Amino acid sequence: MTALLRVRGLNAFHGRAQALFDVSLDVRGGEIVALVGRNGAGKTTLMRALAGLVQATGEIRLDGRRIDGWRADRRVRAGLAWVPEDRRIFQQLTVAQNLEVAEAAARDGAPAWSAARVYGLFPELAPLARRLGGALSGGEQQMLAIGRALMTQPRVVMLDEPSEGVAPIVVERLVQAIRALRGEGLAVLLSEQNEALAAPLADRALALEDGMLATVSGADAGRP
Ligand code: ATP
Repeated sequence: MTALLRVRGLNAFHGRAQALFDVSLDVRGGEIVALVGRNGAGKTTLMRALAGLVQATGEIRLDGRRIDGWRADRRVRAGLAWVPEDRRIFQQLTVAQNLEVAEAAARDGAPAWSAARVYGLFPELAPLARRLGGALSGGEQQMLAIGRALMTQPRVVMLDEPSEGVAPIVVERLVQAIRALRGEGLAVLLSEQNEALAAPLADRALALEDGMLATVSGADAGRP
């Protein structure tokens, strides 16, 4: 099966400092690939480069279509969603409004995800629909951030440290939800230090070390 996300020879730069070196990877639909590596290894930079927010060279394909060179908003519209580590919930908007604003950035075509479906995935958000984003707990904010990403109707979802600042009981809920996304055929790229979240989810793990892919676990190394 063709990978939904295909990356070849990606180099990324912070100013003149190179942060990623010749990174190649594939994530298929219905697959969760975990990115592991120490702080500073380049996991966030990789997601930001794929999202179009860091200067980069190399080839990025979404369902076969080249998207490198595209602006960030166009990549979202093509079906590539990113949930940043700090979540960036709109603090002054309600939960419902946070979901609504994402609709404006959605991929064309019949929407698979509505607010009602997000509340189905995360029933704990439904009674909070009119609460301000800034009043949510860490776990609720993470659910909302994932819900907001889903409202852009993605085919590939990148989750940066989703368990950060989240209570252990909620980590279990995130595991269930991310599994459900895999079941929907989404391709999931997950950066996660917390084994409690990564271990039960990852079909494969890719290790980043100093901006390079190092040892790889899993049957298909994911590295061409
Ligand atoms: P963390 O888990 O702490 O987020 P990470 O694996 O995601 O770590 P990155 O944040 O991608 O790592 O950082 C990779 C390298 O790029 C580090 O050396 C970091 O100092 C550098 N870096 C990251 N962001 C910037 C920036 N905006 N400007 C300059 N250098 C940066």
